Amino acid sequence: MKFFKQLGVSDETLKSLEDIGFETPTPIQEESIPLALERKDILGQAQTGTGKTGAFGIPIIETTEKQAGTQVLILTPTRELAVQVSEQLKTFAKYKKLGVSVIFGGMSIDRQIKDLKRKPEIIVGTPGRIIDHIKRRTLKLESIRTLVLDEADEMMNMGFIDDVKFIMSEMPSENRQTLLFSATMPPAIQELVTRFMKDPTIVKTMKQGGSDPQIEEHYTIVKELEKLEVFTDFLDVHQPELAIVFGRTKRRVDELTSALIAKGYRAEGLHGDITQSKRLEVLKKFRNNALDILVATDVAARGLDISGVTHVYNFDIPQDAESYTHRIGRTGRAGKEGVALTFVNPVEMDYLRMIENEKKKTISALRPPHKKEVQKSREKETFDKIEQWKSENTNTHTFEVAERLLEQGEAKEVVAALLNEFLFSRTDDSIQLSFEKPLTRKGGQRRGKGQGGGKKPFRKGRSQGQQGGGRNNKRQGGGGRPQQGSQKRQGGRTFKDHIK
Ligand code: AMP
Repeated sequence: MKFFKQLGVSDETLKSLEDIGFETPTPIQEESIPLALERKDILGQAQTGTGKTGAFGIPIIETTEKQAGTQVLILTPTRELAVQVSEQLKTFAKYKKLGVSVIFGGMSIDRQIKDLKRKPEIIVGTPGRIIDHIKRRTLKLESIRTLVLDEADEMMNMGFIDDVKFIMSEMPSENRQTLLFSATMPPAIQELVTRFMKDPTIVKTMKQGGSDPQIEEHYTIVKELEKLEVFTDFLDVHQPELAIVFGRTKRRVDELTSALIAKGYRAEGLHGDITQSKRLEVLKKFRNNALDILVATDVAARGLDISGVTHVYNFDIPQDAESYTHRIGRTGRAGKEGVALTFVNPVEMDYLRMIENEKKKTISALRPPHKKEVQKSREKETFDKIEQWKSENTNTHTFEVAERLLEQGEAKEVVAALLNEFLFSRTDDSIQLSFEKPLTRKGGQRRGKGQGGGKKPFRKGRSQGQQGGGRNNKRQGGGGRPQQGSQKRQGGRTFKDHIK
């Protein structure tokens, strides 16, 4: 293992790395930094989570001169990734004080024009808006010496390949350094490499077999109508610290999020129709542990830099191995272990086999947890919670009420009644998701069922509470049942609210 200093990183940049806790380089950083400092072209086959931003970002800070015009252009597939990359670069450049601007669609173009006039040394952006500025001549490429394509395969998947080619052909090729990072190398990316890069050095961090061995990969066979229940059973047994759940469609993400919230989990959804400000808010919550579960579509989760994801659930199996690799790559990052679990409808087994074949890896089968296991986990969670509440409770009034309560009945009865009311009755079993058609069988056959006849709209059945006399109603009446996804699984709050 080497230290950053041995790789040729300056004291000034070392200091900024120390500030953010980067003590030693990750493998891809160790390989890439010396090469990039020599201004070599690099083809990095690396997933997010390997430290690839540092692999190109740290040497870029070193080779960029202050006040010598815009010298670096970094293209990313999504706005979020652009923001994340620019933020990391700003932290790397803290002492060198280089200007880093972020440019993407949906933001005021006038403000961007103003920003560009100041000639930031580094620009990070998404291809579409960058082209807008090139065409308006508000961004001139003459002084660019370094081009980075981050998550090139994602840019291709999102239909940006022609935009990328246009940008590359518009910029000076002489003395240009190109750094291309991609988790996979489909032919279109290889073509970019041959056409635009100069004798690139290949830097790979993915071990043989395709994905990171830190990720435990499983699948479970489950019928469509049982998915939600099996999923929450797994959640209760796994007790993930942070989980990302992938759904196939926007509707799926919305429904699954609502269902999880109704069942008492702290979940929020992300998909293409969610506004930029809401996305940023959700991501912030997720990073700050104010959320346990992020439900997302493939597109929404692209390029997200979220560390600490312990579990990835493919609630719906992805269509291909590439998407599978990207999805599960959200966990097992920065040397930590992760678990990936894919739900497979029996008619979708061909897709699982195809993923296994492409990745040259067997994904192991996992049976759904037994009800007893689920119950044991829920009880353990309850005990842990009660311990936590006990240690946090400083409201003296509650002790007085407790005393009065205990005078009225047996301690066991009182505790059992409270548990039943506030914890064990929280599960709303009446929620159903709309029927989502499984993937078409390989070979073209469609599943007969589900072409309309099997469709069941998302609905919450009329629960006792809605009819007037039941528990849910009482809970709501007490003002305690939280309605927003961000305050879930906290039956204790409800209890506190009741006795205030
Ligand atoms: P990336 O693959 O660039 O998205 O990085 C994944 C995560 O690892 C980010 O949260 C980085 O801040 C973190 N990271 C990257 N390099 C290092 C390093 N050398 N030491 C500690 N953390 C790192």
